[in-house]
Amino acid sequence: MAQEKLLLIPGPSPVVPRILDALARATVSHVGPEMVRELRGACENLKKIVFSAKGEPFVVAGAGTLSMEMALLNVVGPGDRVLVVSQGYFGQRMGQICEAFGLPHDVLECEWGKAVLPEELASRLAEQPYEVVVCTHVDTATGASAPVEAYARAVRKAGALFVVDGVCATGGIAERMDDWAIDVVLTAAQKCLGTPPGLSVLVLSERAMEKRRSLPSVPAYYADLLRWLPVMHDPTKYFSTPCVNEIRAFYEGTRIIMEEGLEARFARHDLFARAMRTGLAALGFGFFTDPNFLASTLSVVTYPEGVDDKAFRSALYENGVVVAGGLAQTAGQVFRMGHMGNLAADEVLFALAAVEKTLIALGRNVKAHASSGAAREVLSG
Ligand code: PMP
Repeated sequence: MAQEKLLLIPGPSPVVPRILDALARATVSHVGPEMVRELRGACENLKKIVFSAKGEPFVVAGAGTLSMEMALLNVVGPGDRVLVVSQGYFGQRMGQICEAFGLPHDVLECEWGKAVLPEELASRLAEQPYEVVVCTHVDTATGASAPVEAYARAVRKAGALFVVDGVCATGGIAERMDDWAIDVVLTAAQKCLGTPPGLSVLVLSERAMEKRRSLPSVPAYYADLLRWLPVMHDPTKYFSTPCVNEIRAFYEGTRIIMEEGLEARFARHDLFARAMRTGLAALGFGFFTDPNFLASTLSVVTYPEGVDDKAFRSALYENGVVVAGGLAQTAGQVFRMGHMGNLAADEVLFALAAVEKTLIALGRNVKAHASSGAAREVLSG
């Protein structure tokens, strides 16, 4: 069998053997004692991951886009207006979901690579009332991280519900639901949580649940969270067959996060981002994202003059590392590298050595080990 490549696209992130082993365990009854223990355990851990004492967690088969849809459909009522705060591709997708369901909305956006400033959000909210505000924590196309805590203050002041797309952040960057007053964190299994793709993951605050309960119906069936709530409270109940193997893997993933500790995990994401960027900069790469908004979970990297995107990425693949190309307007101009989830320091160094080898194979003049040496210094503090 060919050797597996190191998967450094911005999600899915590499899945460690302990989680793969959990995925490969027996398929058990979806209403049996193993699911009671593991789904419950996953839900308890998930609340801790987003710092929510009384929130309602949901883990269902799907992906990040279904989480986005579920979040909107369950908290936006008839006559409500949604403000989408967008710093790029996934904010635009929020707008598209609103359009698909006929939800009245406005988009407050900014140049790619930056995030909307909290003052801009506050002044928009002062001008016009909205019942729901949604934002993307980290836009995976631009590498920009939004100031979620400051947004939350502005949204709470305006009395709206606040929904955060944490698909590229939850479990890697802090999202303190209770302290900051976030009403919905929606995310997916495959990024900072380090588990295989296949799950929609959400936590709703008490306020958000009250809002859902106040709606006589929502334009959804599978995506109606009130149909899932009894299952999340008591996994012996049936609504629609949960993906038991994925849930076993997800439970194991949340246990790994608890063992590492959240603050340590956030600090590790910061450290690896600095190490990776220091190493890449030493090789002549630049960064697309405005330095004020750099996310710790991925880097959107610009090439040194004369390095071709396709040639670089395919040679890097041959050297054992998979990265992603640019999305939409950045296609062909950048590569995107994830450094999130359960990555290890030696994988950061391996990736940089592979990038260095790739540049040499493409005929560039680079100083041997300059990049991994610089990164090693960052890693050793
Ligand atoms: N939001 C963000 C911020 C994302 O990065 C992604 C996936 N890259 C999504 C939503 C959509 O998730 P999925 O591809 O799992 O549907």
